[in-house]
Amino acid sequence: MASSLVFRLHDRGPELLREVLLERGWEEYDERKQEGEDWNLYWRGSAFHGSEYHNLLPWQRLNHHPKTAGITRKDCLVRNLRRMRATFGSTLYDFSPTAFILPNDYTCFLAEFNKPSPYGRRPVYWICKPVNLSRGRGIFIFKGIKDLVYDCPVIVQRYISNPLLISGYKFDLRIYVCVKSFHPLTVYIHQEGLVRFATEKYDLSSLDNLYAHLTNTSINKLGPFYKTPKGRVGQGCKWTMSKFRHFLHSLDINELLLWQRINNIVTLTLLTIASSVPSCPNCVELFGFDILVDTKFKPWLLEVNYSPALTLDCQADVSVKKELIGNLIDLMNYTSIDRLRDRAYQTQKYKHLCVHPNPSPGVSIPVLSHLKGQTFQRKSNGMKSSQSQTLPLLKTAKTGQIQSKHVFTGNYQRHLPPVQTRGRTFNTAADTTCTDRTSTQILDPHSRTNVSRLNGQTCPVLASRLMENSLQVSEAANKDTETEAEMNLSEETDISSQIPDTRQRGQRFPHSPERWRLPNIYSGSRRPDGIRVGGSPAQHREIPPVRVGNFIRTFPFNAATLKASQHKLDVAKIAQELQQVTGLLASGQSAGKNCRREKDTDDDDFDSLLWGPKDPPLLSQCFRLT
Ligand code: ADP
Repeated sequence: MASSLVFRLHDRGPELLREVLLERGWEEYDERKQEGEDWNLYWRGSAFHGSEYHNLLPWQRLNHHPKTAGITRKDCLVRNLRRMRATFGSTLYDFSPTAFILPNDYTCFLAEFNKPSPYGRRPVYWICKPVNLSRGRGIFIFKGIKDLVYDCPVIVQRYISNPLLISGYKFDLRIYVCVKSFHPLTVYIHQEGLVRFATEKYDLSSLDNLYAHLTNTSINKLGPFYKTPKGRVGQGCKWTMSKFRHFLHSLDINELLLWQRINNIVTLTLLTIASSVPSCPNCVELFGFDILVDTKFKPWLLEVNYSPALTLDCQADVSVKKELIGNLIDLMNYTSIDRLRDRAYQTQKYKHLCVHPNPSPGVSIPVLSHLKGQTFQRKSNGMKSSQSQTLPLLKTAKTGQIQSKHVFTGNYQRHLPPVQTRGRTFNTAADTTCTDRTSTQILDPHSRTNVSRLNGQTCPVLASRLMENSLQVSEAANKDTETEAEMNLSEETDISSQIPDTRQRGQRFPHSPERWRLPNIYSGSRRPDGIRVGGSPAQHREIPPVRVGNFIRTFPFNAATLKASQHKLDVAKIAQELQQVTGLLASGQSAGKNCRREKDTDDDDFDSLLWGPKDPPLLSQCFRLT
């Protein structure tokens, strides 16, 4: 029987995740029964330590990428957006309200504050938010400078004083964004999301009424009118995004354009940190983007949440978040390969019986716990030697000497370091086919993992030369598996500030998707709708599926953005492509020259869905639909 996948939750939460995973047949990690690293998914509300990224095994996933504080901390976001605005222009990066980090920017803020109002006689309002707090805590809105009082680092931001209202109530949109990878940037946005309402009518003459100006659920669910029916809003303070779509239909607006502009905000925000986030293919992260829409249907980015709340406060939460978590797990693309965790531990248990009944003196047994943190070079078919991968090695229990770790089978040409056994050195850069007559390779129909039958028992396949010399190798992975213990991170403290960016220091830090995919993430028997682009097989590049459940791939969205996000990130090119799509949607232009330009290239198969509308159309079709 197939073994279960194991999830580990830090601090017992979130309950919803536990519920969804248990329903799917996962097991919860139990520290009394399991070793510290015996899990497939480790979920934390807070940041992981550097060592936790450093020590990942191929079947393990974490729910945070390293170093994303650049967008999830209010002051870092302000700084990064300012930098992007300076580089790529304020027209492109015009989606976040002007902001200042105080006390540092106080003089600049004063200069801005004293400028005449751009709205004529309408005054300018400001909102002050503590940098280190969330859920609306410590926030206030002000008009006069005497009202700006703070005793901790804050950001002061222009208050969007003309929000779109529904029955007189302010709202914002919680957009769920999954970054599957930063190298190359791969982004999905969920079709469902939440609309979060203030529970008292919007009124600029009462700036200190937080129930009228803030849309945080944590505040509004405590308000006196939470349970009262509020016109079209109804009871409570949340809608699903589907309900909001219905509302949009009732207005005569270009709905596709609004969704695309929100999509642009997500992409452009992620681009601010994409090149500084260390690559970690075993991380998949869910962000919550808070977007405010004004009366001109312009969306504004308010903030990016690091660990969006997964609590269930109302029916809208239940219908949105449960599916969201299910789809997120699907996006993590666990396959049978990931059950290697269990197999590896079992191998540990029976290795003496199975392979090494009488270990000879001087021959060492590999130990799983030493599987991490070491590296060796692996070369796959068609890969140039310069592209060879770094993989964890295995130290021997007895000598601590590096022997070998994964033995990958199939079409990989081995490129392992020499192995020393009983004084003899074997060059393991050899053909990987197991030729030992006592072993028969079998292919697990689900995991496509090559294993050997040896003495009637199944155990991971052994490289022939190692077999001949009675050297056990602890586990096997299928030929599509490409993993790497890739980060050279030594710090044990908060990852957001401590992880060194090795690429900035000029170290080689691979970017290409061939090198950084999660093990088997787009391959194997359960390959999702992944498609290939490129004319000849040699040109084929696999691209992520267009959708996984209700997660729609929003980046890359065409061949040009795929290319611009590989190797060196070309933000200018990506911006140009985004603007082109937005321009076409804004003008309601039908598929014309621009679309055909894509079709004329070798990228016929590369299409994307337009995120946002119900039944999202293909990008290549949507211009005809408008
Ligand atoms: P927190 O992390 O404390 O939730 P936010 O930046 O999300 O901080 O702000 C909380 C709420 O305040 C938002 O949900 C929104 O309703 C309101 N708000 C924040 N910034 C602005 C702004 N610039 N203009 C208008 N409303 C804002």
